[in-house]
Amino acid sequence: MSINTIGVIGSGLMGGGIAQVCASIGRKVYLYDLEIGIIQKRLDTIIKSLDKQIARRRIDAQVKEAVSSNIIPTLDMNVMADCDLIIEAVAEKLELKQSIFGKLDKICKPETILASNTSSLPIVQIATATNRPDRVVGAHFSQPVPSMKSLEIIRALPTSDETYNAIYQLALDLNKVPVCSADVPGFISNRVLEIMVNEAICCVYEGVGTIEDVDKLMTMCANFPMGPLTLADFIGLDTVLHIMEVMYKGYGDPKYRPCPLLRQYVDAGWLGRKTGRGFFVYD
Ligand code: NAD
Repeated sequence: MSINTIGVIGSGLMGGGIAQVCASIGRKVYLYDLEIGIIQKRLDTIIKSLDKQIARRRIDAQVKEAVSSNIIPTLDMNVMADCDLIIEAVAEKLELKQSIFGKLDKICKPETILASNTSSLPIVQIATATNRPDRVVGAHFSQPVPSMKSLEIIRALPTSDETYNAIYQLALDLNKVPVCSADVPGFISNRVLEIMVNEAICCVYEGVGTIEDVDKLMTMCANFPMGPLTLADFIGLDTVLHIMEVMYKGYGDPKYRPCPLLRQYVDAGWLGRKTGRGFFVYD
């Protein structure tokens, strides 16, 4: 099955990036969010970053042209009825995702594939909110979407071969490396990554080290490109907390318990880069 028209639900960090990469390879993309101002702000950010890359001769102007002309902002989900694929990228909340998938199931043609960019939620629980569980799959992009190489594909019990293969082919078209994960809380990437991020936050909480020292050590001793606390700010602390909660509940194992300091930061609205303050302060 070929994927020509794509709907993206949520124009946040991930939805914006997903829309950008799909548009850059010539797919028509409807980008949906709750307010037109949110979508416009995201599109402005994308165009600014493409301008910088053109100035540095990293991409040519045609990429910007493709992105600007192929993304269509919309506040009306009904325009997505004929899309071949919808990728959902709203907040990491099961009930919200289930309700969106239920709506899309009613709106979209029977062949449309419905994918979730969830970081941790069981795809099977999203799939069963629809009458087409065989056409539901996890498509877990990494941030920043344009530069990260992998696409983790989560195959739930009811996901059909045709659905899996269509996403696998899209990954190749996007010049990404598809990796298959079982449908378990956190999948492969976040099961490994977030437990390290949470442990780094525990080190700060327990006074084992300062924020700066924890990050400094992990970049220097493990050769990570950024420290776990910088990474947490980059992902968004609300998203990190949601992922830890899903894994804590899903596995019932205390090793996934979210650090109380993470909860305090989220309660304070210090969500990382997106709010200008997390473990570090941003302009
Ligand atoms: P975000 O907060 O940046 O964006 C979420 C967007 O969804 C916002 O623009 C919000 O307005 C919109 N939204 C909320 N409710 C909506 C609704 N009912 N209908 C339409 N839009 C709605 O979040 P994000 O970081 O882009 O994360 C989105 C998803 O991607 C989450 O499931 C997250 O776990 C996953 N994810 C995040 C990362 C990361 O590094 N941040 C990486 C991989 C996957």
